[in-house]
Amino acid sequence: MYKRVKGTDDIYGEDMKYWYFVEDVARETARLYGYSEIRTPIFERTELFVRGVGEDTDIVQKEMYTFEDKGNRSITLRPEGTAPTIRAFVENSMLATGLPKRLFYIGPMFRYERPQSGRQRQFHQFGVELIGSPSSLADAEAIVLADRFLKNLGLVDYTIKINSIGCEKCRGEYKKALKKYYENKLDKVCDDCKRRYETNVLRLLDCKVDVEYVKGAPKITDYLCDDCKSHYLETKEILDDLEIKYEEDPLLVRGLDYYNRVVFEIHHGKLGAQSAVGGGGRYDNLIKELGGPKTPSLGFAMGIERLIIAIKEENIPVDDVKNNEVYVAHLGERARVEAIKISEELRDSDISVVFNTMERGLSAQLKHAARLKCKLCIIVGENELERNIVILRNMETGEQIEIERDYIVGTTKEWIEK
Ligand code: ATP
Ligand code: MG
Repeated sequence: MYKRVKGTDDIYGEDMKYWYFVEDVARETARLYGYSEIRTPIFERTELFVRGVGEDTDIVQKEMYTFEDKGNRSITLRPEGTAPTIRAFVENSMLATGLPKRLFYIGPMFRYERPQSGRQRQFHQFGVELIGSPSSLADAEAIVLADRFLKNLGLVDYTIKINSIGCEKCRGEYKKALKKYYENKLDKVCDDCKRRYETNVLRLLDCKVDVEYVKGAPKITDYLCDDCKSHYLETKEILDDLEIKYEEDPLLVRGLDYYNRVVFEIHHGKLGAQSAVGGGGRYDNLIKELGGPKTPSLGFAMGIERLIIAIKEENIPVDDVKNNEVYVAHLGERARVEAIKISEELRDSDISVVFNTMERGLSAQLKHAARLKCKLCIIVGENELERNIVILRNMETGEQIEIERDYIVGTTKEWIEK
């Protein structure tokens, strides 16, 4: 027997309704804010992520699925959606269609991580990118969109955390202060932190091991330049005006290199260790980095698996997928063709029908209908057909009636609705 690869899931059956629900709400919310969908390939040239996500990030250092294809190109399964979206934006000259451009995506991402609840090697994200606006209006709108999305899912137990990590200008001073703070702690911190100290000090704040040191570290918000300070302030004011609840977290830095200024993360109260359902922020330099003109932009991504765990934890009722409404059973040689005709007539009226395609007796067919949780069953028998009728049975109550051939669709509809 073959087994699926560690850290991947088969998604099917009862769970499917949660996926449809989250994806539908995502598409609908994105539509409300003027976003259009983009579907990029699930693999890209490795360089795109090394350049875009950043050499010294966990993703590039240890999480990428990278392989050489038969043409000796280094290929990587996408670990995130922003770099591919920006690659597509630049490559397809979307700039020409005017800014800002609003794009969203839904799809699988791949990271080689230690699998556990809420952490897989193939997982799915819903993400949005708002390309081309330097204004705090854009930052605020993206956070409002994220908040509306979560509310539309029915979630309540979440917290939006925001911070500003400044720009190249103000970050210089801050990095010096952070280096100074860690200088005499270097022999006590983990190996990753030792490396971060040399290559990317900001990332020290992202450490999940040396959290005690992180707590005491200098705060970047004390180092912001005037422009970054007012951009951050404006963003918060708009959120306040719209009564969006958020918490400031001066130590939030995010795990990808491309961010600057406002960053945010959303945590859910019932997710345990993997509490982040989403995160994002501004990336004013990424497009230039990837070969386009300097285009201030921002975005966020949400993890669909974690959202589904949160929805289940909050006991949010989600509608069943409307299938298997009616089972069409039949008995006898001459009833078969009539039964398949009736099935098609019901489907013409948008009723989901399971037609019996097996050679088996009535009781086996009824058992099958019950197992599929069909609400109704239409029984087409040779004898009844001679009288121009069929039997309609309510599978839940056992109640059944005879209906004339011409009234099948109408009566079935009534019974579905009642
Ligand atoms: P974490 O701190 O949990 O590793 P992250 O900062 O690496 O998260 P992002 O790159 O910001 O995550 O991705 C956005 C969202 O995608 C996360 O908030 C999370 O909901 C989801 N996500 C990220 N990695 C995984 C994974 N391996 N499995 C499932 N969901 C994930
Ligand atoms: Mg991660």
